[in-house]
Amino acid sequence: MLTKVINQNSVDRFVKWIENAEKMVIVTHVSPDGDAIGSSLGLWHFLRGKGKDVTIIVPNSFPDFLKWMPGAADIVVYDKDKEVADKLMTEADVVCCLDFNQPSRVASMAEILVSVQARKILIDHHLDPSDFCNIVISHPELPATAEVVLRIICAMGCWGDLSKEAAECIYTGMMTDTGGFTYNSNNPEIYFLISQLLTKGIDKDKIYRRVFNTQSEGRMRLMGFVLNEKMTILPDFATSVITLTKKELSKFAHRKGDTEGFVNMPLSIQGIKLSVFLREDDDMIKVSMRSVGELPCNEIARKYFGGGGHKNAAGGEFYGTMEEAEKTLKDALIKEQDMIINSRD
Ligand code: 5GP
Ligand code: MN
Repeated sequence: MLTKVINQNSVDRFVKWIENAEKMVIVTHVSPDGDAIGSSLGLWHFLRGKGKDVTIIVPNSFPDFLKWMPGAADIVVYDKDKEVADKLMTEADVVCCLDFNQPSRVASMAEILVSVQARKILIDHHLDPSDFCNIVISHPELPATAEVVLRIICAMGCWGDLSKEAAECIYTGMMTDTGGFTYNSNNPEIYFLISQLLTKGIDKDKIYRRVFNTQSEGRMRLMGFVLNEKMTILPDFATSVITLTKKELSKFAHRKGDTEGFVNMPLSIQGIKLSVFLREDDDMIKVSMRSVGELPCNEIARKYFGGGGHKNAAGGEFYGTMEEAEKTLKDALIKEQDMIINSRD
């Protein structure tokens, strides 16, 4: 039923590492999203089931709508617990790097990640992984790292050992990275995997509600403000641009994760092929991009904002003022206008 896409030799090597490991660490990217936390917790539950001493470390905190996940309370946040995290990293025999493709994606943890002696395995679905791990299991054709984790567990012959808790976390990663199975989800096998996860007793409807329907009033009002006053439509470029400054955010009792998903909204306007969201952070402007069909927004993110990502979901960073970021974007749109307008949806 399941096509074999994971290299069995890599899986067998990983199994040996697991057998011999005393202490393991799982690391995921900065500003962890549903797939980062879901894939990490999925693997964490699996390894704990094998009796392993394993800890997840994330560079910084993650949004409340992911905190219900079983095991989330045990995650160590590097920014808050640096000493504990450094010790765990230094003592680990194996470090599993999930849902990112280069050390810079773990921000303040990059230095320790690169320098520790532990054997490292990359489990990911972003293009062009850089060379910092001994085993690389990278599948950009799969929609979520959580699915890569699930397939690895299956390739180990351990489907039967997968707990309901692990299944819930893996399902959450697959659901969030496909926008509730509305994009990157045409491979029939994804539905086979979902049907198998359901046999573990997960409640997918409840998971959906916990992730998508637990918004704060502040977020809802911020969304209204953004759509009404901060979204600009540029018909000549089939593009929507949203900007948000820290000052504007502060008016809405903003909490981490409150702007998650905003960048997707303009894509529901007919004719929009590219949506860009510029959000002022402490020391930079965070750039988020989404595109429709064949338009590779990761190329635009890479060329103009030093970032990258997937074809239809990418991001980058801009160091400067919001006005300068908007100018850079406008120049980029002018240069890429033909590609955007002529791309197939
Ligand atoms: P989001 O817009 O949800 O923050 O990010 C969407 C995707 O874009 C992420 O899954 C990641 O692949 C990519 N991405 C976001 N920000 C960056 C960045 O600063 N650098 C790179 N290389 N990729 C990013
Ligand atoms: Mn992902």
